[in-house]
Amino acid sequence: MRTPLIAGNWKMHHGVGETQIFLEALVNQDVPATVDVVVCPPFVSLPVAVMVTTGSEIAVGAQNVHWESSGAFTGEVSAEMLIEIGVRWAIVGHSERRSLFGETDENTIRRARSAQDGGLGAILCIGESLVQREAEQTLDVLERQIAGVDRLDPSRLVVAYEPVWAIGTGRNATPDQAQEVHAFLRRRLAGTFGSTEADTLRILYGGSLKPSNARELLGQQDVDGGLIGGASLDVDSFSAIIRTAAECAAGD
Ligand code: PEP
Repeated sequence: MRTPLIAGNWKMHHGVGETQIFLEALVNQDVPATVDVVVCPPFVSLPVAVMVTTGSEIAVGAQNVHWESSGAFTGEVSAEMLIEIGVRWAIVGHSERRSLFGETDENTIRRARSAQDGGLGAILCIGESLVQREAEQTLDVLERQIAGVDRLDPSRLVVAYEPVWAIGTGRNATPDQAQEVHAFLRRRLAGTFGSTEADTLRILYGGSLKPSNARELLGQQDVDGGLIGGASLDVDSFSAIIRTAAECAAGD
């Protein structure tokens, strides 16, 4: 019912040359058509990523996008600029943007809204810290982070649940923890958009997802793919996760 989506968040890795080599190798691996694949390189590598992937099943995403079309916003890039070069997706609200660069729930929703208005799909990242999980505040935190989703278009929205304590730590959420949160999010999104929309909206898991744990996580009923950091930097591990997603979708 929901086509799995596997997205690689390369963060500040892979400049132009490495991006070209990586994506030429990935394109040659024949990505299964039953999985949507998105790679999100650094801004400077976006044009070469689009060039190499044009005509393939792989789409290109940016790691952020501003809420205005143009203006005096040093260091920012707009949805219109991304669309012009062939980018199709943008990540918004990644935990590193929130914790290191002060991005808030409110401006994350604004970024997502303008991404969609400009023609991009928005991958909205949410997730609790370890302190919040241990204080049993996980669902309250997520509730706050998605409070503004009613301003978004569900047909161009993907939600990525990324517990902060699992990002880059090697410690992934258990399949049960992921499923519990994803089911909560889908119920919450059904309350906003209606159950038909919520049933088709993809909710990704992110946080130390790798080939060795991909099957148990991606096999959960409400886990519709992954947002992958470290394991997306290596073409073999990234394509192993893509293949696992295809197998899970086929019920293998
Ligand atoms: C991320 O940064 O979005 C992420 C999930 O990273 P990692 O897979 O390395 O935990």
